[in-house]
Amino acid sequence: MYFDTHAHYEDSRFDGDREELLAGLPGRGVGLAVDCGSDIPSSLAARDLALRFAHVYFAAGIHPESAGEYGEEDIYKVEMLCREEKAVAVGEIGLDYYYDDAAPREVQIRLLKDQLRLALDLDLPVVIHDREAHGDCLETVKAFPGLRGVFHCYSGSAEMAAELVKLGWMFSFGGSVTFKNNKKAPEVIASLPADRIMLETDCPYLAPVPFRGKRNDSTLLPFVCEAVARFRGVSPEEIEALTWENGKRFFGI
Ligand SMILES: [Zn+2]
Repeated sequence: MYFDTHAHYEDSRFDGDREELLAGLPGRGVGLAVDCGSDIPSSLAARDLALRFAHVYFAAGIHPESAGEYGEEDIYKVEMLCREEKAVAVGEIGLDYYYDDAAPREVQIRLLKDQLRLALDLDLPVVIHDREAHGDCLETVKAFPGLRGVFHCYSGSAEMAAELVKLGWMFSFGGSVTFKNNKKAPEVIASLPADRIMLETDCPYLAPVPFRGKRNDSTLLPFVCEAVARFRGVSPEEIEALTWENGKRFFGI
């Protein structure tokens, strides 16, 4: 069975077939999924999906792209959601320096720190989004000893990964590891201890090759699994089993 550790089924691109798609996942080899919110409405929607489907869990959090719309006073809304039974993480949260019109870096960092503190208080792991903000992400999470978490769609260097490994962090990989222009993924994936790797889709985004550019969903995980297995020189079955166990242990399912 596959575990999709990072999905966005509340996204409007699933409006036409969300129910049948989610209901059909176990029958198509996907036994578990974590739906990640990226602001308050999407975190609520992720929670609602988790309540309806036994194999779906959720994370609640405010993504850096929404950092400009939320402040300290909204953290309690995230907290209320994270205290619910099927909440398994605070996320997705992080730093995104890709867009020029994003919230200022200090605003993003403040919101991230507020949510890292919340995760420690609630004893929940965090799901980190790090886009072109590797140095600040590493520095910020290091300031919270004892914090557990995953860098989703990890795109940093092998050196940064080694540092995060020492701190106990996890790494999840999605469709971008199948892209030909992803030069770092093979080295990074080969370098990680087996117990730190998980699979994800980030669907509807980042469909793996040969579906690149199309809408992604959890049933395309085998393409990601095959690439990860190839980079590590093991069988896809081994990676499927390993990432299933790693995901369950990390999220406490
Ligand atoms: Zn995401």
